[in-house]
Amino acid sequence: MPNLTLEHSPNAALNKTVLAEYMSLPIPDGKCQATYIWIDGTGEHIRGKTRTLDFVPTKSDELPVWNYDGSSTYQAEGSNSDTYLYPVAIYKDPFTRGNNVIVLCDTYKYNKKPTETNKRYTCAQVMEAAKNAKPWFGIEQEYTLLDMDLRPLGWPKNGFPGPQGPYYCGVGANRVYGRDIVEAHYRACLYAGIEISGSNAEVMPAQWEYQVGPCEGITMGDQLWVSRYILHRIAEDFGVIVSFDPKPMEGDWNGAGAHSNFSTKAMREDGGILEIEKAIDKLSRNHLRHIQAYDPKGGKDNERRLTGRHETSSIHDFSAGVANRGASIRIPRGCAEEKKGYLEDRRPSSNCDPYAVTEALVRTCVLDE
Ligand code: ADP
Ligand code: MN
Ligand code: MN
Ligand code: MN
Repeated sequence: MPNLTLEHSPNAALNKTVLAEYMSLPIPDGKCQATYIWIDGTGEHIRGKTRTLDFVPTKSDELPVWNYDGSSTYQAEGSNSDTYLYPVAIYKDPFTRGNNVIVLCDTYKYNKKPTETNKRYTCAQVMEAAKNAKPWFGIEQEYTLLDMDLRPLGWPKNGFPGPQGPYYCGVGANRVYGRDIVEAHYRACLYAGIEISGSNAEVMPAQWEYQVGPCEGITMGDQLWVSRYILHRIAEDFGVIVSFDPKPMEGDWNGAGAHSNFSTKAMREDGGILEIEKAIDKLSRNHLRHIQAYDPKGGKDNERRLTGRHETSSIHDFSAGVANRGASIRIPRGCAEEKKGYLEDRRPSSNCDPYAVTEALVRTCVLDE
């Protein structure tokens, strides 16, 4: 069986030892490579481009506004294509190191109105309105590694691996595929300043998870998007594709979600379980609004995943329970015992926009909108 990764990915085939020679060249003092990244018109994919700065930035508001051709990212007409990049957060760049930075941006149209896929704009307003509640989030980002032929990495080219069972948190060459990417990503996120809190192999082989959080307010969406950028960028070096599709393989294979753990200050204090129960009651009355916010296609992507099987609830019903992985909302057993903590919303899709998810949670549970 030919090794499709090496054969078909020019990125993986290029000599990384030669690259390392150049990447170790020092750059002039005071100069900085700033890679501006943003969400494109799909609401799922990330774009980026790099410029040189004559200073080393420490805060996002020191960075210049920039622009790009929105007609090439599904965000503008060709005749009126300049789209603006407003820097909102900066991180150390694990690819170019030194003083170089990743600059997360949100996007604005020619008329300075937010683009359709700029979900950060309203999320930031909602987080500001709810800031006294100190909303914390932790998102479990699941994803699937694909070979260049779009088959899951390490799967037989003309067949399937053995049934699910041995792969979750698995160890060993016949149980997990692509750990190099997982380890590189974990380290790169810590270097960049992302609050990555863990990782594990998932139930379907070639599927993995990492967690980011707890993060307060708008920083949840910011950090998750940057962690996704870092993951795509690392996998690119290995000639491997990262898919956030919520159901990459039909049949008896688990889908991929973005379980969203949520708490307010009141939930974290003694007796906070009452607040958690109140929030669950509000969530039960807003199921449809949340389903619409939990994937980029207003529920269409999650239809394939939230079937009521493979550790999911049905997309059509709301349910909640202690330690129940077949419910929409799970109260972790430890939180039920301590009578405080957080709830886990298991509905968001792996390709969700975390700004839309965290905004919906806060609107429903904190602002009573
Ligand atoms: P699971 O048991 O569902 O696999 P994980 O350990 O993968 O859970 O993820 C739990 C997530 O919950 C982590 O991202 C963690 O940061 C987050 N978390 C922990 N405590 C809180 C809290 N009080 N509020 C919000 N999120 C929290
Ligand atoms: Mn998890
Ligand atoms: Mn998981
Ligand atoms: Mn979970």
